[in-house]
Amino acid sequence: MCRQRLRRLGASFRDLPAERSGDGCALPFPIEISGLGDGIGIAPPAVVNCATAEAVAGFATTEIGPAAEKSFGSRVARVDQASGYVCRPRNGTTKLSEHAFGNALDIAGFRLSDGRQVAVSIDPDAPTKTFLDAIRKAACGRFKTVLGPGSDADHAAHLHLDLAPRRSGAAICE
Ligand SMILES: [Zn+2]
Repeated sequence: MCRQRLRRLGASFRDLPAERSGDGCALPFPIEISGLGDGIGIAPPAVVNCATAEAVAGFATTEIGPAAEKSFGSRVARVDQASGYVCRPRNGTTKLSEHAFGNALDIAGFRLSDGRQVAVSIDPDAPTKTFLDAIRKAACGRFKTVLGPGSDADHAAHLHLDLAPRRSGAAICE
């Protein structure tokens, strides 16, 4: 099951009490994840559902880590997340965001083991651009929706990753 697979990935996490709200937000079995495996932390610890935690841990250890070593010659110490579970609608709509179900994570940047800070931004210099392009492309196969700089004004400074099933079955990668 999901928690066992997460443990096998080397992730650090704990279970939290269920989240529920009158306006339809729901996260019945929240996980607070503080380590993604392979020595990659996540700060602050993120509250998401187990499937999202597993997808993020797999993405970090399999894609983010190797991409950072290739682009920067350094390991990734930490993923800086901007948003896990939040009870809110999508910007500019009344429809609940995938964040309202713990089904999404926003990544704002990365801290490398050598101390460098890498921010998700709209117009990064090389090698940050190479790194961000590579992980964004890799995220596309692992998540159902991938939004980031260039998608729209709301995503100019973070990558939004979520696991919401799409009616078409296809992933949205913008
Ligand atoms: Zn988001």
